[in-house]
Amino acid sequence: MTDLVARLLDKIEEFEFAAKTAVANEGGGRWVSNGEVLFAVRRDGGECPVAASVTEAGWAEETGAHLTINDPDSVLRLCRAHRDIIERHAETPVAPGRRETTCVECGSVSGWPCPTLRDLARGLGVEETTDGN
Ligand SMILES: [Zn+2]
Repeated sequence: MTDLVARLLDKIEEFEFAAKTAVANEGGGRWVSNGEVLFAVRRDGGECPVAASVTEAGWAEETGAHLTINDPDSVLRLCRAHRDIIERHAETPVAPGRRETTCVECGSVSGWPCPTLRDLARGLGVEETTDGN
């Protein structure tokens, strides 16, 4: 496993831990907003307040939308998708017995890590080291 993959998995684990903790604390992973209060939707369909706006006017509609788009269920879905991407873009020797590696999924000729994993790292805020890993 390359350093980049290890750091990607660490970041994903960090996101999953925060999302799972939020679900445990708030009683639900899908969150909805009415513009003033953010609610966690429990399994029984009931709603549990998570947070309230700090302004009398409430949140801007877009802020409520942002919070619900990034609710724990959404974060956990993205984490599963990111793990699948990492698995499909595994480091593979270019040929048996060769030390050079590539990504079979991308057919990358530029070596390792492949452009897809580099894009994923950029999106997750995981920086590459100077040697590209
Ligand atoms: Zn790839």
